[in-house]
Amino acid sequence: MRILLVEDEKNVARFIKKGLTEEFYTVEVAVNGKDGLFMASNAAYDLIILDVMLPDIDGMELCKRLRSSNIKTPIMMLTAVDAVESKVKGLDIGADDYLTKPFVFEEFLARIRSLLRRSTSGENSLKVADLTLDPVKHEVWRKENRIDLTWKEFALLEYLMRNQDRIVSRTRIFENIWGYDSDASSNVVDVYVSYLRDKVDKNYMPKLIHTIRNVGYVLKDES
Ligand code: CA
Repeated sequence: MRILLVEDEKNVARFIKKGLTEEFYTVEVAVNGKDGLFMASNAAYDLIILDVMLPDIDGMELCKRLRSSNIKTPIMMLTAVDAVESKVKGLDIGADDYLTKPFVFEEFLARIRSLLRRSTSGENSLKVADLTLDPVKHEVWRKENRIDLTWKEFALLEYLMRNQDRIVSRTRIFENIWGYDSDASSNVVDVYVSYLRDKVDKNYMPKLIHTIRNVGYVLKDES
């Protein structure tokens, strides 16, 4: 699950990103409204979290613009202003939920799960052959075996499964899982694919993760 967080306070952004990453979400941060608008318009996210007070385009305005350009991604607004008025306004302009800072992280996570559940209902689990991934519960199963993955492995597997039967290049995988701003080296993709193979393919048939030489990978049931 990919989340876009638009938050100008660096410490708050870092705290939220860290907490969500530990919960297996892939998080990209925009530090102002303009970047947020650009990123939300040019990449697909499962959820957008908008701080209301931003230096340029504020969260309310940003939400309005996203909705008027027909972006239907669930939006959660964050604000330090605990006023019924701004809450109502936020929901009126198309936000799906509203949370007042400071918040309890557990509540924040529960609300995120609920938003994601609503928006992904009907396609909760991804399934290829006997491999199943539940993006909301963060569970992976192969046959009857529950498989433990680190959060990067999980994000990588989810990405490959969402692109089932499609060849994805190393560059695309890298940008989606590690992010443009990552300083990890690009062979990290190959390293993580091999971790993943050990866990989801090695002891099973059919093999699902295939290498496309000099290009990238494809997750596919060839049986
Ligand atoms: Ca702010």
